[in-house]
Amino acid sequence: MRKKITAGNWKMNLDYDSATSLAREIVQKGIGKGDLMIMAVPFPYLSQINNIVADASAIDVAAQNCHHEVKGAYTGEVSVDMLKSLNIKYCLVGHSERRQIGETDEILKTKIDLCLANGITPIFCCGESLQIREDGTHQGFVQTQLENSLFHLADDDLLKVIIAYEPIWAIGTGKTASAEQAQEMHAHLRNTIAQKYTAAVADGISILYGGSVKPANAQELFANADVDGGLIGGASLAAESFSAISESF
Ligand code: PEP
Repeated sequence: MRKKITAGNWKMNLDYDSATSLAREIVQKGIGKGDLMIMAVPFPYLSQINNIVADASAIDVAAQNCHHEVKGAYTGEVSVDMLKSLNIKYCLVGHSERRQIGETDEILKTKIDLCLANGITPIFCCGESLQIREDGTHQGFVQTQLENSLFHLADDDLLKVIIAYEPIWAIGTGKTASAEQAQEMHAHLRNTIAQKYTAAVADGISILYGGSVKPANAQELFANADVDGGLIGGASLAAESFSAISESF
């Protein structure tokens, strides 16, 4: 059964004290009207914030990335095994800000496999650039991202993945996809999954929208049949706005 999810991506923001205060405030406000709330926090804070959410029901922590090799001489990187040893249950995979610095579909496929093999739920990010949107090839482009990194999975493994559709032109720009544009892409992705797998698998996967989601537009976006919540950047950095978004289902 797919879940309604409010997920925040803090990116490379907040010092340790501000991060712990924010996490505490969010826990205090609760998960809102969705089924699950996730905060993707910087690596150094994972353990502490995981402790803060430990007793909160349906509020969890995600890493923002992991490395695609199991272990070894990769200075500065963090392995899936390390995340597992911290009891981290979610990890963003393929955020556009990482794709832009060289992460290919093939690398992301490996990360997906490593996460699933270690009991970590990948939040797989996909989305097109403005140029691709203007060329009108966005549906095919995002479909290929899914095909290349996810469609080797068996039904039960695909069902463990959360998908986040994040058009690059809407991330951090203040420009949101319209509710119609979001619904159109989400329906396309769900249909593509139904064709490759089954209608039941497609219906069981949560597909989040990300790109300048704010309290003012969340309700309209989340009201769409195929939009199961949001992956939120800027507006997840304040408890008040993140919480207001979580009330928008
Ligand atoms: C993001 O970084 O995933 C994102 C959607 O950012 P923002 O909400 O700030 O556009």
